[in-house]
Amino acid sequence: MRTELKTNIAKRMLGVQGEAAFETLARANELERQGRHIIHLEIGEPDFDTPAPIVAAGIDWLKKGKTHYAPVAGVPELREAVAARLSQLHDVTVDPSCVLISPGAKLMIFAVIHSIVDPGDEVIYPAPVYPAYEAAVLMAGATPVPIVLEESKEFRFSLDTLAASITPRTRMIVINTPQNPTGGVLTIEDLKGIGELARKHDLLILSDEIYSEIYYDIPSASMLDVPDIMDRLILVSGFSKTYAMTGWRIGYGVIPSDLLPAVNLFMNSSVSSTSTFCQLAAVEAFTEESAQAVQRMVEEFRKRRDVFVDGLNSIPGIRCLRPHGAFYLFPNISALGRTSKEIADRLLTEAGVAALPGTAFGKHGEGYLRFSFANSLNNIEAALERIRTFTSQL
Ligand code: PMP
Repeated sequence: MRTELKTNIAKRMLGVQGEAAFETLARANELERQGRHIIHLEIGEPDFDTPAPIVAAGIDWLKKGKTHYAPVAGVPELREAVAARLSQLHDVTVDPSCVLISPGAKLMIFAVIHSIVDPGDEVIYPAPVYPAYEAAVLMAGATPVPIVLEESKEFRFSLDTLAASITPRTRMIVINTPQNPTGGVLTIEDLKGIGELARKHDLLILSDEIYSEIYYDIPSASMLDVPDIMDRLILVSGFSKTYAMTGWRIGYGVIPSDLLPAVNLFMNSSVSSTSTFCQLAAVEAFTEESAQAVQRMVEEFRKRRDVFVDGLNSIPGIRCLRPHGAFYLFPNISALGRTSKEIADRLLTEAGVAALPGTAFGKHGEGYLRFSFANSLNNIEAALERIRTFTSQL
């Protein structure tokens, strides 16, 4: 979705790549309106319902009249609940005053980058990449510096590559674990190494951990587990993925105290506040009942992942790693001998399977597709048959 060169658009918007998932979804929906049957594997949101206690609380708070502005930084109940949860999960005490709530994690990414990064600064991030980081960096007039995630390293990057990308202009390193689009995860050793480099070169780290509760087979690792990092760590996360709450728009950041006023000012000057009743309802995410719903969802994701990965690997020309986190597969399709855009387009129009080309996540995604496995096992099995038939006819 490259913005076309137009005279009536701000120059800093040129080159900004939006999220292709929304565009592909619109095309898929249009095909459905024309009577086609489409299997949706393009959009990055759980197909589960928001846990019942959160929905019930949302209705309740609406009825109780919580329909007015909230404080810019968020309602105290949610800031405290987030701080308590993170402090319970990690060996660190998160101060509720450092937790800022935002309408979605994506806006927190924008707020942080816009209030901290100057034109001319460089921001390093691993690629293929969730497009919002690059967009925010470009719109802030700063310079994106992608470093390549290697399939041979299960979509991690080497610390040497990171070290070699740091210049006197580097201001921030953005990491995302578990990662969209590859499902790759960073190890605690990786995170400690990133922390050391950040300390050595006096850099900030923006760690997007929105998939932090969606792990398979291995223990999770968070930047919050790295000792002595809180003064340069900005943790971004939210409720969209873990609690199937994409439409509620609740995200948050844990921000070092010296940067708080700037991020708060961004929020004050842009959105004013995040929906009051949605925030109050989100407090219910930390109940035992919600935790069980999350556990059931992750178990279901694991089954789908295994069926999908095994199925793709049995198709000639496709090679797919088994991801340890998030709910995406990033199969290598380069042996099919076509661009990922052509394959994704034709899968949609000829086979009725909506997926994203790897290039929706930047040029380093060429040769790959991204499938979301937030769809039923039946649909995944049907999609596998369609993909098998389609590729056999290429
Ligand atoms: N970070 C990553 C890595 C994501 O994949 C997404 C959603 N696709 C977000 C942030 C934004 O989530 P939200 O704005 O819904 O909280």
